[in-house]
Amino acid sequence: MPRKIVFGENAAKEFEYPQNSLVITTTTPDIYDKWLDYMGVKNYEVYDKITPDPAIETVEAVKKSFEGKNISTFIGLGGGSSMDVCKYLGKLTGIPKILIPTTFGTGAEMTTYAVISFEHKKKLLQDEAFLADAAIVDPYFLPGTPFNIMRNSACDAAAQASEGYDSKLGNPLTRLFCKEAFDILEDAIINDKPNLLPYGAMLSGIGFGNSSTTLGHALSYVFSNEGVPHGYSLSSCTTVAHRFNKSIYYERFKRICQKLKFEPLKLKQPLDQAADVIMPDRGHLDNNPITVTKEDIIKCLGEIVNANPLAQILEESE
Ligand SMILES: [Zn+2]
Repeated sequence: MPRKIVFGENAAKEFEYPQNSLVITTTTPDIYDKWLDYMGVKNYEVYDKITPDPAIETVEAVKKSFEGKNISTFIGLGGGSSMDVCKYLGKLTGIPKILIPTTFGTGAEMTTYAVISFEHKKKLLQDEAFLADAAIVDPYFLPGTPFNIMRNSACDAAAQASEGYDSKLGNPLTRLFCKEAFDILEDAIINDKPNLLPYGAMLSGIGFGNSSTTLGHALSYVFSNEGVPHGYSLSSCTTVAHRFNKSIYYERFKRICQKLKFEPLKLKQPLDQAADVIMPDRGHLDNNPITVTKEDIIKCLGEIVNANPLAQILEESE
């Protein structure tokens, strides 16, 4: 976990930011000007050309943009993409990083993971050097988040908590965080309490960040590679993975996805070819509670694209 975690209302406002920082963000000036004003950041530079699913070329472009400037700290302000770029830059340069999520899903501010694309393929990387020097979680940023982004983030957080719970790398402490995260996220989504999402996502980050995600995330990357947002691809992928794994979260996760009204997924490439892309993803597959063969992957992908795993209406169990 990051050495310093600040959580709660006004957390981002009361934090003392170093001078000469570089703010890295996915948002536009009309939004981040207001945010930086709230935060009281002084003497900063901004890099705002980060796009979703950042590639290594983006990281290099940011690095080039501040060459010769005496940057003291990176401030990653936005969705998972801005934080991933910050993490990678921190490792490359040794410059400290402060991570501030505004979409509350990835839990990336808590973890040693970064997802960066190399040659149009998303790669999950892990390094202690990716860990934030400070993580600030402040619900201030939540209002105004478009529904689609909110729902993708919420689905990602719930997928991470439940996959992290089942991970072979888990231990009683990570399962404690994952279980608590899922309970809170489920309450937030099913009972329409979005103000609970930041805390749930943060706990999910601590839980899965120390145990890893599994089959659901492994399956999802072939959809992401074809442009489907991360959280959206997890709706069907994690549901099918939970059924395959006989996870205790199968029904509850599916109910969350039904509530968020996710559409079925499509895949352009043949299932066999997609399975060949997924199989080398040992970082996820080796931690899956059950051994997964290529045939299993093809079967799971078939269920995702041909059988709409979210279609069935669940009986209300009270
Ligand atoms: Zn995720």
